[in-house]
Amino acid sequence: MVQTLRYVINVGYAIIGEDLRLHEDISIEIENGVIIDIRHGFRRDCENVFTFPEGIAVPLLTNAHVHSADYVLPEVGSDLYIDDLVGEPYGVKYFILKKHHMHLQEAIKSFLKSALLSGTYMVIDFREGGIEGLNIAIEACKGTLTKYVPLGMLTKRTPQELQQELNEILKLAKGVALSSPLYYNTELLRVIAFKVMNCKGKIISAHISETEETRRERDFEYLLNHIRPHQIVHGTYLSETEFQLLKDLNIYLVICPRANLWFIGKYPPIDKIYKVGVKVAIGTDNSGWIKPSIWRDLEVIASIMRTKLGSIDPDWILKAAILGGPESIGFKPPIINEGHKAYLMVLSGPLFPIRSAHDKKLALIKRGGPESIALIAMENNIITPHE
Ligand SMILES: [Zn+2]
Repeated sequence: MVQTLRYVINVGYAIIGEDLRLHEDISIEIENGVIIDIRHGFRRDCENVFTFPEGIAVPLLTNAHVHSADYVLPEVGSDLYIDDLVGEPYGVKYFILKKHHMHLQEAIKSFLKSALLSGTYMVIDFREGGIEGLNIAIEACKGTLTKYVPLGMLTKRTPQELQQELNEILKLAKGVALSSPLYYNTELLRVIAFKVMNCKGKIISAHISETEETRRERDFEYLLNHIRPHQIVHGTYLSETEFQLLKDLNIYLVICPRANLWFIGKYPPIDKIYKVGVKVAIGTDNSGWIKPSIWRDLEVIASIMRTKLGSIDPDWILKAAILGGPESIGFKPPIINEGHKAYLMVLSGPLFPIRSAHDKKLALIKRGGPESIALIAMENNIITPHE
């Protein structure tokens, strides 16, 4: 990694602006971490010039739902049923997190490094273990360039203890993560809703209807009867009626296609989600079983769209990966535009034939990946992963 106060990136293609429009032969000038000039044609009038005639500049992606600490012991118990493996609090995962407590900080650090090298701007983490768990993550993310946004998972189950825990968690985290609203009685949900909603800028996220069982138990209705979350995660078993309600209430849906396939053998109903027009972000979920690279999910989403809808909307997929995550928790997303901070990457190289691709955005979705990220620019920091 090098630091430089002024540099120019020349690229064959660039995805520019909030509408993610494709432009050809572009130079991007960055000064003091801010994009100050974007113009057609390559430039040489700067001491630090990076040129990729066969490359494409893209805003960094956001991984909108992960469990970073699972990185401590990848692929353990991979033949177990989802509840036996990751169900809170008696799934194998929770025993592993406890047993390997001393190694969690290092695991989260490794996870964040992997996220950065995959071109990740922001990671939104369901952090297990209450206050102690958050403190481990806060130590682990020191020095990382990827924006780490922890949501604290609660450990207390009496109103008084829960209130105290919430007071501390809301000081340390962006908000609260619920493994399932069904784990809390009505009184506890009211405590959570009251505390979070009265704490400016804090959010609630919850796993919802990932499995048939949780849908049968009406977790969606139970949550919305007590809490207005900012995002819900999965929605694998929700119908168009519920998606319409999410849209009306401006609640983001975080889809995790590869995680759903791995754990329950089913994909989120992307055709219904797309038709209704719910706002969507993308997450890779449990890092112990799912490689935390959003790129792999992008390709899967494109394949589901092609199968279920008969056509692919690359803009919809890219917007979910770039804009959806930050917007779902009230942050401005990284976009390539003059006046915006530089948070972008350039994909180029022999594994990435963007020049000859008929549809550049679809090629980005289907063929992009960490192996083709030639440069990552984060304000004044430049990372060239393969040099
Ligand atoms: Zn999850």
